[in-house]
Formats: sequence, C-alpha cells, structure tokens
Amino acid sequence: MSVPESFESPQPVPLVYTDVTVVPEHERNELEKSISSLEGEVLELKSKLKSLDDKRKEVLNKIIDTKGSIRVFCRVRPFLLTERRPIREPVSFGSDNVVVRSAGVRKEFEFDKVFHQSATQEDVFGEVKPILRSALDGHNVCVLAYGQTGTGKTFTMDGTNEQPGLAPRAIKELFNEASMDHTHSVTFTMSMLEIYMGNLKDLLSARQPLRFNEASTKCNLNIQVDSKGSVEIEGLTEVEVPDFAKARWWYNKGRRVRSTSWTNVNEASSRSHCLTRITIFRRGDGVGSKTEVSKLWMIDLGGSERLLKTGAIGQTLDEGRAINLSLSALGDVIAALRRKKGHVPYRNSKLTQILKDSLGTRSKVLMLVHISPRDEDVGETICSLSFTKRARAIESNRGLTEELRKLREKKISELEDEMQNTQESCKKIITRLQEAECLLTENKKLLRTTHEKYEEDMEEKLLSPINHLKETDATPKSSDKLVKISKSSGFVPRFMTSTVTSRLRQTMSEKEINARPQSIRSVAKTLTQISTSQSLSLSDSRSRGLLRRSYTKPIQTASNSGTPEAPKRDIKDLSFQKKNLNDTSLPRSKMVTSSDPNVRAKLCHHRRRMSSLT
Ligand code: ADP
Ligand code: MG
Repeated sequence: MSVPESFESPQPVPLVYTDVTVVPEHERNELEKSISSLEGEVLELKSKLKSLDDKRKEVLNKIIDTKGSIRVFCRVRPFLLTERRPIREPVSFGSDNVVVRSAGVRKEFEFDKVFHQSATQEDVFGEVKPILRSALDGHNVCVLAYGQTGTGKTFTMDGTNEQPGLAPRAIKELFNEASMDHTHSVTFTMSMLEIYMGNLKDLLSARQPLRFNEASTKCNLNIQVDSKGSVEIEGLTEVEVPDFAKARWWYNKGRRVRSTSWTNVNEASSRSHCLTRITIFRRGDGVGSKTEVSKLWMIDLGGSERLLKTGAIGQTLDEGRAINLSLSALGDVIAALRRKKGHVPYRNSKLTQILKDSLGTRSKVLMLVHISPRDEDVGETICSLSFTKRARAIESNRGLTEELRKLREKKISELEDEMQNTQESCKKIITRLQEAECLLTENKKLLRTTHEKYEEDMEEKLLSPINHLKETDATPKSSDKLVKISKSSGFVPRFMTSTVTSRLRQTMSEKEINARPQSIRSVAKTLTQISTSQSLSLSDSRSRGLLRRSYTKPIQTASNSGTPEAPKRDIKDLSFQKKNLNDTSLPRSKMVTSSDPNVRAKLCHHRRRMSSLT
C-alpha cells in the first residue's frame, strides 16, 4: 500500500517492521510517532470530508431548487406485441414536450423530461437518482407514478426481474451511497401500505389472513402528526433493512401481498394506491451528533381512468367511490403542493394526510405521468396530461421567457460542474482516508504485537533462561528468533524494563486473584508462584497439567449446571483465569499455539459457548 505524502518518516516504517520480532527502541518510537501523525491526518481528512459534504449538499439543493422541487416527467408506454400500431400515431414527443392529436385538435404539454417508448428503466432511474441523494441529505422525497391503468406505472416503479424498476434500483442506490458515506452512519427501515377506498392496509404485517375488502380489515391504522409536524402511521409495520438483499426480500413480500389479497384482483388492484416508504436515519460520526430522519416515498397510484371508460356504471357505490378517489388522487396531491407554495388549502384525503410532511417546504416531489400510445386511449391521455399541467404550474419558474430560460440552464450547468468537482474532491479524500486508516490499523497492530511479544519474551527470558533454551516441541518459530536475538544483544532497552504500569498491572492481577473463588485462586496463585520462581512452559509436564486443570474445571461445572445463569458465570471465571494466566507471565504465544490438544479443545469450546450466549 502506498504511504500518504504527509506521512514522513526517516525510514519506511512497514518495511522495517515486517517479520521482525524485536523492535529496537528508536524504531518503536518512530512507529509511535507515525501512529500519532496518522491519527492527526485521519482527523483532518474527516473534517475536510465533512465540509465538502456540506458543500455538496448545498449545491445539490440549489440544483434541485433551480430545476424545481416539484418535477414532472412523462413516460410513454411502447406498443405491446398484442397491440395494433396505428398508421398515424396520436402521440408524438420531443425531449421535454408531448403533442397529442385527436379529431383535428392538437394539444401540447411541457414536461421537465419526457421518456420515449425506447427509454430503458436505467434511463428513467438516471433522472431520479439525484433526488435520492437529496433524501440521504435529510429531505423528504416523494416519487409518484400516475396514469391510466395499463400505461406502465407498475412497470416503472416495480419492473420485472430482468428489468427492475425505480423502487428496487432506488433502494440499492441508497445502500450504495450509504456505504460510501465516511462521515455518517446510515440505517434504513421500510414500510409498505396500500390505500383502497380510504382504507389503509399494512402490506408487511405478519398477519395477512383476511381479504382487504372484508369488514374486519377496514382501516386499523391511525395517522398521527407529532409536534414537529412529522407524520406517523400508528400500528404500521416498520422493518429494519440491514442490506439490499433483505430490503428486496421485504419489498417482494409486500408486492405479493398486494397482488394476492383481493377478491376482485384486477379491479381493486388497479384502483388502489401502493406506497413504499424507506425511512433514512443518518447520524454523524462526531460525539453528540444528532440523528437526522428523512423519508423516501415511492408510490404507485391507482389507475386514473374515468368511470365510463371501464364500463363501471351499474357497479356498487363503493367501487364508484374508489374510481372517483383514484381519479382525484393526483388532484389532491397537486392541491397539497400548491399549499406548499402558499396557495389555497386542500382536501385532506388519506393519501395527502400520509404525505403531509413529504409534500412540504423542504421536500422534493417527482411525478411520473404515464400515457398510452394507443388511439383509443387518447381521451384518457389528454386527461392525465392536463392534470400534470396543473402540477407543473405550481412551480413559479415555468413559463419563462427564452432569455430567462437560457440563464436558468446556464446556472444549472454551472452548479452541476461545481457539484462534479466537489464529488471528485470527496472521492480523492475518501481514498486517502481509507489508506491512512488502513495504515494506522496496521501500525497499531504491529506496535501491539511487537510490544506484547517483546514483553512476554523478555519476561520469559528473565524468568527462565535455562528452560527457555531447552524448549522445542510447543514453542512457535518466532520464539527461536527471539532466543537468537536475545543471545546476541546483551542489553535491555529502557522500554523493556518494568514500568509503573506493568508493576501496577502485576499488583492488580494479584489482587484480582485473591478476590476469586478458592479453586481458581489456588491455580492462579500457583502459576504466579511458578512465574516468579521458575520457568513455565508447555513442554513442562507439570505446567501442562496445571493449565489443563485450570481450563477444564469450569467448563465441566458449566455443562453439569442446570441453571441458565451458570454458564455465564463460569465463562466469566474462565476468561478471568485466562487473563490471569497471561498476567502471571505465562508466555502467551505458547498458550495459543500449544500443540496440547486438551488446551486447544477447551479454548474452542469456550469460544463456542460464548457465541451461543450472545
Ligand atoms: P399499470 O401499472 O399502469 O396498470 P403495468 O405496469 O401493469 O401498467 O403495464 C401494463 C403492461 O405493459 C405490462 O404488461 C407491462 O409489462 C407493459 N409495459 C408497461 N410499460 C412498459 C415499457 N416501458 N416497456 C415494456 N413493457 C411495458
Ligand atoms: Mg399497476
């Protein structure tokens, strides 16, 4: 790995220390110095990253606001294989306008973006992506698919396995972005619900036995608004999604429940609104930093076609109401959005109650109107497009003169350049940060191992020079090295002599031993005595016996014990013993690498038992 420029050291530190068991004092000092300089660098990089991230947020917000915090896109469905293509197609389009010709009348509608029949799911997602970043930055975001039944709303939002739609792509992107955020920890939860005829249905609930339109499933979810204006749906299942796979699993489950819970599948599912909510919890690294919560709503609205078109006349009143609600859903949302811009109050349907805090001042809204290319759907197409015209009219920057329009585009392009530069700087800093953090971990590890190894080996050497040299079977290779080095170097550097801390540790460990139950105390005490009087190695049969007994006994007690608390206590004792064995100058490397199967087996056993408790 490359060493950062600011990491200046007279000698290349990692090269010097690799594979060397004993570190001369001056090199150790160098290592410590480099650790502290790396720590400083990491802090500095993190703070730089934080300010760049703030700048990026600000620029993105400006871009979105200049483009319009309510954006309206149009997607035209391609002809299906089963459909007859007319000679003169009624709908034609440019990059930001749609023209509909019907019975000699020509109507033109403008959009922020038009997706032609050949547009892929990726193309659509590409335009939605910036708004997701905005959701991660703490804004509430709403993406709504709207249009006549059969125009591709579900295809756009959900997609197929081969061509995943916006929702799975957006969720994946959120995880992706979150994993690259080095200054925050980001977590997600997910909820899904359906609104049909003013009733709310929890799609992720564990209990889904009843059909939606049965009386017992009528709205049991209460919509609440807290003092900060944040909307909560009481009783709605909210699942934690630690990774994309889990999120996808829940999403698919919700979709399945939606499509299978209807008595009249086609009618009801095309009339209901399906809402997916991802709640984002973003917390800064710093001490005392607050958690920011934002929501991303992805909504597949019910079909907007009018009563006559579907031949629904004569059907029940409820269904008639549902059709009207479907038709007016976007109208309600538009009215709510108008309020956001200081316009008139609006009708508070279930949908707008739920979305209240996501259609507000700081929120971003994206509407995707879907239209059919067919001749026979022209009437519905014009109706859908007229609705979205109202939505677009909310943004004050519509209907600008050509000059102002150009100025606006120039500003957006400048902001986008700025955004790109900021993102590139962020990337560079992240790479550097990762390098520095990696190097830091390596150096710390190196310092720890060489230091511990050195202390152990020195203690061992000082305590038992004769036995240490005799030992062959259970000693790791590195120990041989130590012997050679110890023999050749006749001096003891200052840092190897006992320090105040090491003496204190020794006293502490003796005190701890005295406070323990008799059986352990006796073993530990014996080990302490041995350590101060003579050598202890695993080649020494007496020591091995001691070790074996000291590890075996508590585990046997645990396995015989019938109370649930007992194993915990025994394990605590065991770890205590292990600690004391270490503290009492037993060479640790020998314990770990021991060829004694008894010692090894018991250590594994211990580990397994610990994990089964957590
Ligand atoms: P809606 O949800 O609006 O009722 P669907 O998403 O169910 O409509 O789409 C109706 C049919 O058209 C489906 O078979 C779907 O696969 C197909 N379809 C819709 N949009 C596209 C598209 N952009 N490309 C290919 N097939 C599409
Ligand atoms: Mg659909």
